[in-house]
Amino acid sequence: MNKPVIETKALTRTFSQGGQTVNAVKSLDLVINHGELVAIQGTSGSGKSTLLHLLALLDRPTSGSYFLDGTNTAQMTDDEQSDARNKLTGIVFQNFYLIPYATAVENVMLPGLYGHRARTKLRQHAEELLDAVGLGDRLTFKPSSLSGGQQQRVALARALFNDPPLLLADEPTGQLDSSTSNEILDLFKKINELGKTIILVTHDPLTAGSARRRIVFKDGEVVSDKTQQPVRNSDTADSSIQ
Ligand code: ADP
Ligand code: MG
Repeated sequence: MNKPVIETKALTRTFSQGGQTVNAVKSLDLVINHGELVAIQGTSGSGKSTLLHLLALLDRPTSGSYFLDGTNTAQMTDDEQSDARNKLTGIVFQNFYLIPYATAVENVMLPGLYGHRARTKLRQHAEELLDAVGLGDRLTFKPSSLSGGQQQRVALARALFNDPPLLLADEPTGQLDSSTSNEILDLFKKINELGKTIILVTHDPLTAGSARRRIVFKDGEVVSDKTQQPVRNSDTADSSIQ
């Protein structure tokens, strides 16, 4: 029996804001299994980024528990958490977070620099990944010479560098026009079909519609969790024209 990639039990993250308490994530019970492609959809302020940061081990919960690949993350030291983050998760952000003075290849190599592999091997692996995301002809370009969609592909290649089983993306289409969004969502789908578990958080119902499982999040709580037939944005646009 395969254990879930993610299992949370009463996961809660509370912030204090000017004397007020905000429950950004409220007593969340969530199970995500290997191979799933899940969208978590919610309006701004619903707690999506807070949840993603918890799942990526970038933040610790106020209460409740989080099992990542079967291990209770509360029992991990900070070092064990960073190790688990590097090995098990890849993260893609809305603003790409690329290093502006580094080339595409150097940006993608970054997660490998903490290990002991030879630089030439890292470079070769980064080049292969960039090729796989369709940027084989942009290896030495800096982020400022790349379009938004291309920068997001670099960020995606970087997230895949350590071959993590779990990919987490925060508003991955937030900066992109709809046709570029479709290309990026197609790429996520392909990566999912190659066996990675993917969680996309988004405010955009069309982006959320591209996933097989859609969880709607409101005020830090799940309001619905359904399996659906994935729809491509352009399919929706086409059908609305008829
Ligand atoms: P979303 O990503 O869905 O827009 P967030 O997770 O960023 O939502 O925020 C959820 C709620 O938690 C908001 O009310 C936000 O103001 C609050 N919040 C998030 N991060 C912090 C923080 N570091 N300090 C205080 N409040 C925060
Ligand atoms: Mg957010």
